[in-house]
Amino acid sequence: IIFRDYISGFPKESDMIPTTDTIKLKVPEGSNSVLLKNLYLSCDPYMRGRMTQSDSYVPAFTPGKPISGYAVSEVLDSGNPNFRKGDYVWGIVGWEQYSLIENPHPMALMKIDYTDVPLSYYTGVLGMPGMTAYVGFHVIASPKSGESVYVSAASGAVGQLVGQFAKLMGCYVVGSAGSKEKVDLLKNKFGFDDAFNYKEEPDLTATLKRYFPKGIDIYFENVGGKMLEAVLPNMALHGRISVCGMISQYNLEQLDGVHNLFLLIIKRVRMEGFIVSDHYHLYPKFMEMMKQHFKEGKLVYVEDTVEGLESAPGALIGLFTGRNIGKQVVRVAHE
Ligand code: NDP
Repeated sequence: IIFRDYISGFPKESDMIPTTDTIKLKVPEGSNSVLLKNLYLSCDPYMRGRMTQSDSYVPAFTPGKPISGYAVSEVLDSGNPNFRKGDYVWGIVGWEQYSLIENPHPMALMKIDYTDVPLSYYTGVLGMPGMTAYVGFHVIASPKSGESVYVSAASGAVGQLVGQFAKLMGCYVVGSAGSKEKVDLLKNKFGFDDAFNYKEEPDLTATLKRYFPKGIDIYFENVGGKMLEAVLPNMALHGRISVCGMISQYNLEQLDGVHNLFLLIIKRVRMEGFIVSDHYHLYPKFMEMMKQHFKEGKLVYVEDTVEGLESAPGALIGLFTGRNIGKQVVRVAHE
């Protein structure tokens, strides 16, 4: 799937062009490369940022070259001592059926050793979004048992885990999402104490006041804009806002102004942004925790899987209309 050109506003399917090309299914003699058969691609909101020509923490896509992103793949051939034919790996590949990765960086392609869960989980709960939930909640938000936690975009790849981590710590957790089906998932599958559909709440500040009469100790920010503005008056003294994402802003030409930031002072709130890749050294620790949770049946994870590489562009843009219910995955090939 080729990236057509830089965009402004909402991405469209036509910004990503399916094409065919052929590659030799063999690693060149004497090279350090790994040849991969891609099984699952991950659709992630940060990919929108790569469609704009601007300086960011991750480089823009190159027009005329394949879109790239996180994926789970099988090693078909390897000239690299760290990978063998038949290994499963997760990391960054092109949006293509087969990828030849030259001289892979150790953090850009990781071998999968734990296979008691579906392999696709390495696009989500055991991959980048899972680490994001872990870092944003456990590291940035400094949670304590009994605290009140609010999660926006709560049914998605990151949010569903944040809510479950918070419940495992003994917190009171409320989530918001954009449909009844998602709200039902939050309450009945992920174990949130309560949840609401933000699209049906005309006065979000008043809604949050109802759910958090004593204030929010931790806000896990996925949305930004009007949502953040409604959260600020509802923060408790010494609350923390873990700024993970602001998806409501990613397609805007002019960002929404948040007019009440002075409340950070009055309420002594700490608001901190983070980028998950700065914390990948914690991945082994995270995996130990996650394996234990899965072994004890303490975590559930919901994925939304579309079939075929050609479905990837539609799945990616669906993140910005809330089409996905859970982690958005594209199955490119069967294991
Ligand atoms: P999700 O699986 O949650 O998918 C995105 C969801 O966002 C949609 O399903 C939709 O759900 C919601 N959404 C879309 N547009 C809007 C809008 N205008 N207003 C409110 N909600 C909207 O995505 P992820 O879990 O992968 O990502 C969640 C957030 O985490 C994103 O902001 C992302 O950028 C951020 N992130 C940050 C990282 C970091 O290192 N800081 C790393 C990974 C992710 P609904 O139907 O509920 O509206």
